Amino acid sequence: MWTSSAHTAQWAILVTRTDPEVPKHKGMTYFVLDMSSPGVEVRPLRQITGEAEFNEVFLSDVRIPDAHRLGEVGAGWQVAQTTLMNERVAIGGNAQPREGGMAGVVARVWRERPELRTPELRDRLVRLWVEAEAFRLAGSRLRQQLAVGQPGPEGSGMKLAFARNAQALAGLELELLGDDALRYDDWSMRRPELVDFTGREAGYRYLRSKGNSIEGGTSEVLRNIISERVLGLPSEPRTDKDVAWKDLPR
Ligand SMILES: Cc1cc2nc3c(=O)[nH]c(=O)nc-3n(C[C@H](O)[C@H](O)[C@H](O)COP(=O)(O)OP(=O)(O)OC[C@H]3O[C@@H](n4cnc5c(N)ncnc54)[C@H](O)[C@@H]3O)c2cc1C
Repeated sequence: MWTSSAHTAQWAILVTRTDPEVPKHKGMTYFVLDMSSPGVEVRPLRQITGEAEFNEVFLSDVRIPDAHRLGEVGAGWQVAQTTLMNERVAIGGNAQPREGGMAGVVARVWRERPELRTPELRDRLVRLWVEAEAFRLAGSRLRQQLAVGQPGPEGSGMKLAFARNAQALAGLELELLGDDALRYDDWSMRRPELVDFTGREAGYRYLRSKGNSIEGGTSEVLRNIISERVLGLPSEPRTDKDVAWKDLPR
């Protein structure tokens, strides 16, 4: 489900359950899957934006050579953690110039349409602009740390901040534009190769940014990671940690 760009990908990540006798985080094995293998079927999933940038992927009797396994048998969760940490940095820690991305788009509307301004909207724009700038600089520091090692749980903070800021800016842009924001440029069902936040209209940005707090780990799950692994707070009660996967209630 929700496999981004599966319609264009040559390779996919496949984390499989290979041992149901052990607890859920154990017993998984990580493979790279050649998407041109016989039995791989990719079906588009149409999103709230009208387009389908992700897909459902069905595998019927697909065979993967052991040479395409990454890591040890049963160590798939650890490999997946590294993948997820990198994905979060890629989503939240992009290199941007000042006023790049959504902050720049909204600031441009503000400058070009003085008749839309109110003191309350100004306060919100300045607050979000400062937030965007703070996490842009934090992202630059994170990328320097990455140059000498693997991303840690700090990347989750970047991704969380990015999602909150992007959604708030997209909402502000809509409010600024009022009735004009109700226009939607293109509802045709397309399968884009890239997600372009700044190349389309405000309505697209507003709808697409809803996915920012889900993709690459939901904001709730990222808050758990930050509280447990960055702040060292007590962990959530977990009753399934020592139970074999096959015995979990479902
Ligand atoms: C644009 C987009 C692209 C995506 N691309 C991909 C992709 O390429 N590959 C891929 O595999 N997936 C992809 N996804 C799926 C995405 O990774 C998952 O939807 C996401 O990780 C949430 O998992 P879930 O849907 O199973 O929700 P669940 O884990 O079932 O969560 C449901 C709700 O419960 C909350 N929740 C769950 N556990 C906890 C907890 N312990 N504490 C507090 N709250 C909790 C969640 O925050 C959420 O609100 C994509 C999603 C989007 C929106």
